[in-house]
Amino acid sequence: MPSSHPLDTVIVGAGPNGLAAAVTLARAGLKVRVLERHARVGGGLSSAGLTLPGFVHDVGSAVHPLGFASPAFRTWPLHAFGLTWVQPEAPFGHVLEEGTGVVVERDLRTAAQNFGEDADTWSALFGPLVAEWRGLLDDVLKPLPRLPRHPLTLARFGVRGVPPATWTARLLKTPEARAVWAGLAAHANLPLGTPGSGAAALLLGTLAHAAQWPFPRGGAQALADALAAYLRFLGGEIETGVEVRSMRDLPPARAVLVDSSPGVLLALLGDRATPAYRAWLRRYRYGPGLLKLDYALSGPVPWRDPSLRRAGTLHLGGTLENITHAEASVARGVAPERPYVLAAQPTLFDPSRAPAGQHILWAYAHTPPGTPDMYAEVIEAQIERAAPGFRDLVLARHLTNARQLQAFSPVFQGGDVNGGRGDLWGLLARPVPSPTPYRTPVSGVYLCSSATPPGGGIHGMSGYWAARAALRDVFGKR
Ligand SMILES: Cc1cc2nc3c(=O)[nH]c(=O)nc-3n(C[C@H](O)[C@H](O)[C@H](O)COP(=O)(O)OP(=O)(O)OC[C@H]3O[C@@H](n4cnc5c(N)ncnc54)[C@H](O)[C@@H]3O)c2cc1C
Repeated sequence: MPSSHPLDTVIVGAGPNGLAAAVTLARAGLKVRVLERHARVGGGLSSAGLTLPGFVHDVGSAVHPLGFASPAFRTWPLHAFGLTWVQPEAPFGHVLEEGTGVVVERDLRTAAQNFGEDADTWSALFGPLVAEWRGLLDDVLKPLPRLPRHPLTLARFGVRGVPPATWTARLLKTPEARAVWAGLAAHANLPLGTPGSGAAALLLGTLAHAAQWPFPRGGAQALADALAAYLRFLGGEIETGVEVRSMRDLPPARAVLVDSSPGVLLALLGDRATPAYRAWLRRYRYGPGLLKLDYALSGPVPWRDPSLRRAGTLHLGGTLENITHAEASVARGVAPERPYVLAAQPTLFDPSRAPAGQHILWAYAHTPPGTPDMYAEVIEAQIERAAPGFRDLVLARHLTNARQLQAFSPVFQGGDVNGGRGDLWGLLARPVPSPTPYRTPVSGVYLCSSATPPGGGIHGMSGYWAARAALRDVFGKR
């Protein structure tokens, strides 16, 4: 029940960025209310019983290296509000074409040694970044033109992160290391020949060695619920089941932060948006969509290579060449025959999410617009090749296509998990080229979703930086 106290700020949308914005504002002593159209908070950070009773699936994000390491989340007392991180034995594994697995260990030295003649190159790529991972995150998870606090580390990141992932791959010689690098880079949802595609590989690889790739115990929803509980503790309010269609739907407040798509923001601003701003937002570009499958299984996935059971996350994509081909094919509008499949098997490390002895699998592949739901069979065949007998374990399967994902949250337009293209231009003009891209032409109104820097992923930093802009502009607080 909302209180009748006057509000300082209203947040539209309770995704990770809306919640992070709300917490940042509430921590500054402001009176905040969050309005969310779904019955539960979380947006892309939520869990649901998508298949059978007793199985808890993640609707959006499943794997949370950024959530664990986020400069905002890691300094907030979320453990006191129910959040426990579960660390798999190894952060991730990669399935090569013929089903052999490569498990990437958290320990950098061990991981590098496992790459044989690429050991030194792997250590040189990641070692300096792993040593400074907190500083690196502080600098990369913020709007771009800000002065870096760790310029040397950021420069090292830029040298390998700005060029296409395929360029850095040339430094590696073994098929295993090249494939693992490609599997990391493909998280960017870009062809691997695109400038900027190396950044995802560097960042996620660094976090694998520095902080692991954990899951919130009980599912992604546990992180959203902890953020919501912390917000309420700070005096913030949350109203669910409220869709904001017009500024008239909002209670009076001095600032409004919108955790939604540029399209929804434009609809809310109406005539008050300047023609130039309107033109920028209309040109905002999205990456390809996806087809996602959630499985309830009668047992653990029977990987051909049993060592893959030690990894929380799997990249099923084969060699560097296979993955490069698959992602380029998606960008050309053709669904590949051998897709790059991202999968997570959290119940091996968190049995609370399925009935005793049973398991879940979360998996998706990038897809071009218009991909039919039948493509699920191609994704499933990719899993079956790596794990013969997988299909026999399936108790139930839930499919989410790009259209359904966009209906779930407008941020995921066309099914783009990152809420906008993550190439260099997509990072520089997200959604407009500005040192403070959260500001809109309407005084007191801000965009705070992943359509603002630093972009997609569960880190809350888009919300955090948008809130900082509002604190400075509207409330005179630094
Ligand atoms: C399938 C999938 C897998 C992913 N996997 C990972 C992963 O493993 N790790 C990772 O770090 N990231 C992952 N991501 C990306 C991550 O989920 C997103 O980057 C993140 O959720 C974006 O947060 P957000 O707050 O900007 O938007 P959202 O999470 O979409 O939240 C926006 C919220 O605002 C609400 N809303 C919007 N408009 C209105 C309105 N007008 N009125 C009221 N409410 C409104 C929506 O209902 C939604 O709840 C994945 C995403 C998807 C879809």
